[in-house]
Parts: sequence; structure tokens; C-alpha cells
Amino acid sequence: MARVYNFSAGPSMLPEAVLLRAREELPDWHATGMSIMEMSHRGKDFVGVAEKSEADLRELLAIPVNYKVLFLQGGATGQFAAVPMNLLRGKSKVCYVNTGLWSEKAISEAERYCSVAIAASSKESGFATIPNRADWRIDPDAAYLHYTANETIGGVEFQDIPDSAGLPLVCDMSSNILSRPLDISRFGLIYAGAQKNMGPSGIVVVIVREDLIGQARTATPSIFDYKKQADGGSMLNTPPTYNWYLLGLVLEWLKEQGGLAAVEARNVRKAEKLYAAIDGSRLYSNPIEPGCRSRMNVPFRLAKTDLEKTFLAEAKAAGLVNLEGHRSVGGFRASIYNAMPEEGVDTLIAFMREFERKHG
Ligand code: PMP
Repeated sequence: MARVYNFSAGPSMLPEAVLLRAREELPDWHATGMSIMEMSHRGKDFVGVAEKSEADLRELLAIPVNYKVLFLQGGATGQFAAVPMNLLRGKSKVCYVNTGLWSEKAISEAERYCSVAIAASSKESGFATIPNRADWRIDPDAAYLHYTANETIGGVEFQDIPDSAGLPLVCDMSSNILSRPLDISRFGLIYAGAQKNMGPSGIVVVIVREDLIGQARTATPSIFDYKKQADGGSMLNTPPTYNWYLLGLVLEWLKEQGGLAAVEARNVRKAEKLYAAIDGSRLYSNPIEPGCRSRMNVPFRLAKTDLEKTFLAEAKAAGLVNLEGHRSVGGFRASIYNAMPEEGVDTLIAFMREFERKHG
């Protein structure tokens, strides 16, 4: 087996131990004579898998009892719509912070349901920073304040939880959930697609404070209604059982790694050395203000753009793949989520140094 270091932004690398266990369990799960994906989602075996995944997520993130955990479909993009549909609660306005392309997508979807006030935006700086907190204008009449914890394309990450001036705080954590410990009690709602730090695509996790649900707009489709999904154990329709099982395996793996404090320490080491290598070179550069650089997605450019194709080809030959930047911004991006081993980052850095020595 020749696995590569896969720097894709998502779907992205999964822990090898998880893949090997899934392979082992594929044809005959726990002596049932069938695979997980052939079982009824309502049978006791699959319900056990689902319950264990929720318990493990609650343990890893220390989720308080007054929060519901939902495992849904439609991705984070579905949540861009589900959030206003569920959380407007009779209000007509919401408030969003705009820190990049994913914030903008969330904003334009919310605009289909209500008016969106922009509390702050870093668009003018080319999304290279997070707007100064003192300058945020949070509308007290808004139903909630929304922000994107990690901009997957731009490589900008909040290093702490912003103050929401009393509004329920809603966060898109698709690309950094489970990368560090988190104080869930600061949030009204968190959502995250699984395909970066939690498992394969096809499943999205919603963590929502109980008192905020049960007032969805009348026209809300049942599968997007948090209260109905909470009451139905996230099984209002047939859930993506295999994806849910794989997500559960990733959570078990995270616990084996020592939990989120240990995972965070490794993520800090990985990101610090990669940024140090970029900053210390004449060939590579990263445009993001140091205080808000992402630990998960590290975009970089080459001073000599004519070398871009050679860089990708030589990286691929060295087993380092999917380093292209997002099509909307170009350049390069190394996504180094939880499942990227530290040796993967070390190998990338050694490759970049050698490439600079040869061509720089
Ligand atoms: N938000 C963020 C921060 C993302 O990175 C992505 C996916 N790249 C999405 C939302 C959209 O997720 P999905 O494709 O699961 O709808």
C-alpha cells in the first residue's frame, strides 16, 4: 500500500488507522454477517453505532446536557439555509461577520429568508485579516450573530470565540471543528460538514442549544427542522449510515490520540513549523496577518509564478498531492487537518526547502 500525503481541503485525508479498521469490518461487522451499510438504521446495531458517536462527540467537546447533537444531510451548505429557517424565531433580521468566501456564501443564502446586517467585513483587505472587534456593529434586534471560525479558502481562523453582545452566537466550524478544545456554552449553534476533520462527506453535525429550537418557520422542510430531527434521533429519513459509522470511527481515533488538548498541541506544532518555513524563505509567502492565520489551511504563493507547474509536478512525484489553491484564488494551499500526520508536514517542508534550493 503506497499512501500519499494528501493536502486536499476536503474531502480530505482520513486517519489510516480508521481506514484499516473500516476495511477489516466492511464485509462482516461484529459477527453480524453483514456490513454496516446493509443494516436497518433502526436496528439495535446501527442505533448503537449512532448513540456511541454522539456520546463520543459529547465527551470530546464536553458538550453540556442542554445542547442537542444532530447528524444531518445537505452539508454545511444546507445549514446556510437551515440556520435562518430555524433560528429567526419571529424576528426578521440576522447579523453576520464576513471574513471570506464561505462567510459570503452563508450570507447570500440567509438573505433569501431575512435581512442580513453585516457586523463587520474584511473584504477591503482582501480577507487577509479579521476585522477589529472594537469596530463590530452588532444589531441588538438580530436573531443571532453568525461567523465562520475558519475560512477554508482564505486561510483565516479565529483564535478565540468572539463576544456576541448577548445574541445567540452561531458558527460555521466546518474546517476546524475538533482541532482544539472548545467552550460550547458560548454558542447558540455550531454546524460543521464532516469531510475535513470528522470523516467522509455526506454528513453534517449540528450542536444546538435546546431553548433555541422548536420555532422553525412554518415552511421549513421537516428534514431541516432541528426540533423534528432532535425528536427523531436524526432519523426523520434514512441517514447516511456508512458515513455516520466512519465519523464514529474518527471520533474513537481522536479519543485514542489523547483527546482535543493533545490534538491541538500537535496541530500547533504542525502549523507553526509550516508558517516558519514559508516566512523564512524568499520563494514562498503567505498573505494572512499572523494573528489570524489558520492552523488547518495554509495558503501560499511562489515569488516566481512560472515555477508553479513544476512545483506541483515535483511535489506529486514526492508523494505530496492536492496542493493547488482554491480555483477562485490560485496559488497553493496545504490543508493540514487532524488526520495529516506530523511527518506529512515535515516531508512537505523538506520538499519546499529543496525545491527552493534547486529553483529559487
Ligand atoms: N463552510 C466551510 C467553512 C467550508 O469549508 C465548506 C466546504 N469546503 C462549506 C461550508 C460547505 O460545505 P458542504 O460542501 O458540506 O456544503
